[in-house]
Amino acid sequence: MKIYQTIVVGGGPSGISCAYHLKQHNIDYLIIEKKKMLQTWRHERWDSFTLVTPNWMTNLPGVNHLIPYDNEFMTKKEIEHVLLEYMSYVSPNYVEDTFIESVEKENGIYCLNTNNGKYYAEHIIVASGMFNQPFVPTLSERIPKEINQIHSRDYFNPSQLEEGNTLVVGAGRSGVQIALEIKNAGCEEVFLSVGGLTPLPVVYKNINGVYWLNKLSGYHEGKAYLPYKPEDLDNENIIGKINQSLYHCQIAGVEILGRFINCIDGKLEFSADLDKMMADGKSYQKSLEDKINHLMKKESFEIGDNELVFDFKDLSSQILSPLTIIDANSSHLKNIIWCTGFKANYEWLTLDIFNSDGTPYLKDGVSTHENVYFCGMELVPDKNTKSSFGVGLFALYESAKRAVEVMLSRM
Ligand SMILES: Cc1cc2nc3c(=O)[nH]c(=O)nc-3n(C[C@H](O)[C@H](O)[C@H](O)COP(=O)(O)OP(=O)(O)OC[C@H]3O[C@@H](n4cnc5c(N)ncnc54)[C@H](O)[C@@H]3O)c2cc1C
Repeated sequence: MKIYQTIVVGGGPSGISCAYHLKQHNIDYLIIEKKKMLQTWRHERWDSFTLVTPNWMTNLPGVNHLIPYDNEFMTKKEIEHVLLEYMSYVSPNYVEDTFIESVEKENGIYCLNTNNGKYYAEHIIVASGMFNQPFVPTLSERIPKEINQIHSRDYFNPSQLEEGNTLVVGAGRSGVQIALEIKNAGCEEVFLSVGGLTPLPVVYKNINGVYWLNKLSGYHEGKAYLPYKPEDLDNENIIGKINQSLYHCQIAGVEILGRFINCIDGKLEFSADLDKMMADGKSYQKSLEDKINHLMKKESFEIGDNELVFDFKDLSSQILSPLTIIDANSSHLKNIIWCTGFKANYEWLTLDIFNSDGTPYLKDGVSTHENVYFCGMELVPDKNTKSSFGVGLFALYESAKRAVEVMLSRM
């Protein structure tokens, strides 16, 4: 029976980064990937997808020369190319199409039961992503069956949609990008339901907002950053991405609705409190900005005084009394796209390392009483500023390094 020193679960950029560090230390390891290597980036993003993190925020040593150090945003094809090159640079050991059903511990060795037999390891690094299971509210079960429903993971382009009107549920970065694309593709009526607004400042103090969110979550101490420059204001790639906002949806003709709250007898019901949501969103954004200012002061963080003027606009007040009911029987509503996000699924990890709410009980990304390490997660999560990208492409190499270092210290 072969016993690996380490099994890494998940063949995304985090898993590949773990392999990089494990190889540096001559650790005998294997990546177990349930689908295909780089599954999420190659097979689970829509065709016109562009990253929300600017190029300078992707850090994958070995292939960084392929990524210009600028503020543009990579397309799906570009990020796929970079990640495939990263995989060939690291050249990891892996098995694909291998689904872990459960994990047991026998005489201090972990046994991973999979559809392809048993695998054994002394240590497990979990790199299965924080976003590996689409989340769809149970409300979806009450939607008339004539309406085509898909999650954003399975949306690729407008040609997949039934002819008629479309409701996009969830107005985060995915929902806004997809609603705009469908409207611009000529779909007659596109509705976008806003579930709640916790907007991140898209740009703050001349730096991309995701940087601030990551910094607030405690991950990027002392890291270099790239502020926007005056010429970026004329760059279509940059401004086009920054303008993927609710306001731009509204001017493209997307009808903005409140929270999707119920569906009874084919009548879809939406909350009438968009104005309150917008006000709450503004206060949330302001609280983030206050935290950023506080942090800058604490760190004597200097970014110069020539702040650029980005033209951010709010939704027009016409939406303050939007539609609250769509009758599926008479409205030609044919499609619903759930842009309601993802959650982590650890059902396969049948070890006693979870809190009662199902989240792993960890100290700095490491299980305290098992040789199980998590990577790709914030190590110092702040409930209020938790990045929706985990540590993102900016820091997952670093996060993998930490997981491997802690593991080595326990070997
Ligand atoms: C729509 C969307 C847009 C995003 N945009 C950005 C962005 O612009 N910039 C950014 O930095 N980040 C972005 N992210 C976050 C992004 O997911 C991370 O940056 C990055 O992909 C995390 O890499 P990862 O390897 O940790 O996870 P993933 O890329 O999710 O890889 C996890 C891998 O684990 C596999 N897996 C899952 N469960 C199991 C299991 N039980 N057994 C075996 N294998 C398993 C999956 O199939 C997958 O291949 C985005 C995420 C989403 C969902």
